[in-house]
Amino acid sequence: MNSSDVIVVGGGIAGSVSAYFLAREGFRVRLLERGELAAEASGAAAGMLLPIGEARGRSALYRFGMRSLAEFPELCDELIERTGFDPEYEASGALHVATTETRLRELQTARVALPEAKLEVLGADETRAEASLGPDVCGSLWSPGEAHVRSPLFAKALAAGAAQLGVRIETGTLVTGFVRRGDRVVGVRTPDHVFAADHVVLCSGAWAPSMLDEVGGGFRLPVEPVRGQIVALERPESASRAIIFAENVYLVAKRDGTLVAGATQEHVGFDRRVTAEGVLTVLRAATRLAPALATASFRGAWAGLRPTTPDGLPLIGPHPNLENLILATGHSRSGVLLAPVTGRWVADLVAEKSPVPEELSPSRFAPA
Ligand SMILES: Cc1cc2nc3c(=O)[nH]c(=O)nc-3n(C[C@H](O)[C@H](O)[C@H](O)COP(=O)(O)OP(=O)(O)OC[C@H]3O[C@@H](n4cnc5c(N)ncnc54)[C@H](O)[C@@H]3O)c2cc1C
Repeated sequence: MNSSDVIVVGGGIAGSVSAYFLAREGFRVRLLERGELAAEASGAAAGMLLPIGEARGRSALYRFGMRSLAEFPELCDELIERTGFDPEYEASGALHVATTETRLRELQTARVALPEAKLEVLGADETRAEASLGPDVCGSLWSPGEAHVRSPLFAKALAAGAAQLGVRIETGTLVTGFVRRGDRVVGVRTPDHVFAADHVVLCSGAWAPSMLDEVGGGFRLPVEPVRGQIVALERPESASRAIIFAENVYLVAKRDGTLVAGATQEHVGFDRRVTAEGVLTVLRAATRLAPALATASFRGAWAGLRPTTPDGLPLIGPHPNLENLILATGHSRSGVLLAPVTGRWVADLVAEKSPVPEELSPSRFAPA
């Protein structure tokens, strides 16, 4: 039996950031990924770091998102220095665009409610001129502090950083179950090995519930796959370098000249195909918002399955019924944004340093 202090299951952003922060704390870590690193949701994401996102005031997602956003510049610099991989962090700012009066009022309310974010309301003409947008636009909120990364590169930089700190990363290794001693998890099984560990951190995204069904002791993990399809265009000169975030579509300008337009939100189980309807939906919304995109070259389209919880917040914390099993999954639409705080909280939990905020505890979904 091979042994480590901590086994991390899943090599998306949640797994890689957990492994990285754990290794920085001095733990011996093994990360097991059934396929390739960042080949699921984390490789598909647009990489927006957008805590104001849906601008519903000072929500938990806003508070944790702002805290996480603030950690990106230093974390990305550290990863570049350590690994040579550049996550392409861009402090682009974001224009939250309203195409209805109701949305405009919400954005105006957000400006007043969140003074620390230094938000600025722009009128319809100013917004259209700023980002070459079409006639539907009725105003916007300029958010100077929001940013984006290239999600697959960020995930790979975290994994490379973890490897450099001594984490053993084994791809092509499916975890088939847990090894238990009573209510304690003492390791995991793969088809060829049993790995012992003091702690197991479950970061298997949309697939996490199936692994727990067998051992959950009555706790069903409320995580479901929600498909997101996303389209890449060649960025026209007229397109803004800021993130353009509207009610039904967003546009993100990447360093290589790609403009990413996303994304659908579909409840289709584990179907990760790109469909004609999905691409059409995104392109219709994108070209309606920014008509100049109709003549942009098409670079590709892809899809991923967001591990989604009923309240949109991740589950970070101990399993309600099993000792030594930590959950770090269900990041829904914000797994890239919340990566730094996720890594920090997972490392703190294993080190028994400080608890994770109650709002994120998996126990919030456990029957009383
Ligand atoms: C189209 C789209 C756009 C998005 N845009 C953004 C955005 O702009 N900003 C943002 O913050 N978030 C965004 N997200 C959400 C973000 O991508 C997710 O929240 C995040 O990537 C989840 O990371 P994860 O590591 O939990 O899951 P995943 O990336 O899905 O990783 C889970 C990993 O676990 C592995 N695994 C599963 N079962 C096993 C097993 N039994 N044994 C071993 N390995 C296993 C899988 O192979 C996979 O690699 C977007 C998502 C999509 C789909």
